[in-house]
Amino acid sequence: MPTDEQTIIIGAGLSGLACGYELARQGSSFTIYEAHENIGGLSKTMWFNTSEGRFGFDFGGHRFLTRDKAIEQFFFDVVGHENVETRQRSSRILLKGKYFDYPVKPFSALLRMPIWLTIKAGFTYWYAFFRYFFARRKTVDNFEDWVRYRFGSTLYNLFFRDYTRKTWGIDPKNISSTWAAERIKAANIFSLIKNSLLRPDPESKIAMTLYKQFFYPSKGIQVLSDNMAEFISSHNQEILTSAKLTEIKVKNGKINRVSFENGDIIENFGTLVSSIPIPSLIAAMGDVVPENVQEAAKNLKYRDLILIGFMLDKPEALEDSWIYFPEDRHLFVRISEPTKYGLKMCPSGKTSIAAEITCTKGDDKWEMVDEELIEKVRDQLIELGFFSTEKVIDSFVERTTHAYPLFDVDFEKNLSTILSFLSSFQNLELIGRTGAFQYINMDVVLLHGLNCAKKLVGITDKSVTTLGHEDKWVG
Ligand SMILES: Cc1cc2nc3c(=O)[nH]c(=O)nc-3n(C[C@H](O)[C@H](O)[C@H](O)COP(=O)(O)OP(=O)(O)OC[C@H]3O[C@@H](n4cnc5c(N)ncnc54)[C@H](O)[C@@H]3O)c2cc1C
Repeated sequence: MPTDEQTIIIGAGLSGLACGYELARQGSSFTIYEAHENIGGLSKTMWFNTSEGRFGFDFGGHRFLTRDKAIEQFFFDVVGHENVETRQRSSRILLKGKYFDYPVKPFSALLRMPIWLTIKAGFTYWYAFFRYFFARRKTVDNFEDWVRYRFGSTLYNLFFRDYTRKTWGIDPKNISSTWAAERIKAANIFSLIKNSLLRPDPESKIAMTLYKQFFYPSKGIQVLSDNMAEFISSHNQEILTSAKLTEIKVKNGKINRVSFENGDIIENFGTLVSSIPIPSLIAAMGDVVPENVQEAAKNLKYRDLILIGFMLDKPEALEDSWIYFPEDRHLFVRISEPTKYGLKMCPSGKTSIAAEITCTKGDDKWEMVDEELIEKVRDQLIELGFFSTEKVIDSFVERTTHAYPLFDVDFEKNLSTILSFLSSFQNLELIGRTGAFQYINMDVVLLHGLNCAKKLVGITDKSVTTLGHEDKWVG
């Protein structure tokens, strides 16, 4: 039975593990409970043994990027300098049957776009620019208006409308303008177009997600989680898997009892650190949650993901690290080649392709049987010319929920209702991408975990979950 000082961490994704890592380093005691049978959460790597050798797939290729030198150092320390590869990205987007470099390169884009379209895009951009400049009311409340207002309808229709609808599964009019403001400032095709065709930004302003170079653990992103877990175990602290949080009891403004699917019931602990989806946390609290908060949690949405992998008997399949597919005629939104991330992800002379399908649990895509998914995606990839049927050694389908927080027009209202309720518990901390409902990458997620631990041992009083909104951290 834990003492008063013990911390309970829910979720063994990167944020939960980083929190445990730092607590272990500080000599604190804690236990991590993970619902899944494996650790790593969204940053996991799956390995498949075939007659031709072992193939590894991240759940969507995970490149490590950061502007923060301390977090970069942390990544290198944990993974080990000798295990990190520095790779160059190369990525494209397929639009109307043509591949465009992504980020768009000025001259190649100009040459590939019909001239009338380039002129129209330029005209509608400047029209929108002046209209925005002279507008009295500069706030708009949805994604579509935000983008059209600033970049014009041609660029919007061409590069963002379909991709946004396909990725998020809802009309861009129902996506929050706050999210547009954050992401577009961060990285988007408009700033690319603007940079390349209209008014270039200085290098220093280029969004992190457009960096040419990235770091990658040569045996897959899972190494980051595995090495943190090893450090935690070496400090005699436990990570329990297949241990889903099922119930939370509260008393006098504190969380005082938590129950898990594996039968564990813990009472009298210090702080509960949650990195699990907010609606799951709220559901575990049961009737103590007021009705309006329960309603807000039900309406806080995440987007789910299906990954389909093909192991191939050929040395290379793509010219690029990854390619985006905004049009509906392709089932997937992105494909990537794992060997373009880590050289050891496939046996020598072989390669693989991972296709990502965004969806919502229960929709047509999610419910499609594995064989049908594999057949449809395989046929589309063959049609695109990446491989032929006889080159396929093996394939798999893997689904996950809560891959992306979904920023619909009501998310701020719902999130603030939930957070004001949860902030009334003195011993609860929310961290991570799903746990804090932030569109953040591995570097920020790690920082959430590390800073949360520092806060618990009294090294810092920084508010952990506001980090993701600072400019420096926007992906
Ligand atoms: C397709 C894709 C590609 C990405 N690519 C990149 C990239 O290139 N670079 C980058 O930096 N980032 C990338 N990311 C983001 C990165 O994966 C996340 O930021 C990071 O993995 C989130 O870690 P986390 O700990 O916050 O959340 P999670 O990984 O979601 O961890 C939460 C954990 O809680 C567990 N859990 C859930 N419910 C319960 C429960 N009731 N009880 C106990 N445990 C529970 C889950 O199983 C999970 O292990 C990508 C994400 C996706 C989806």
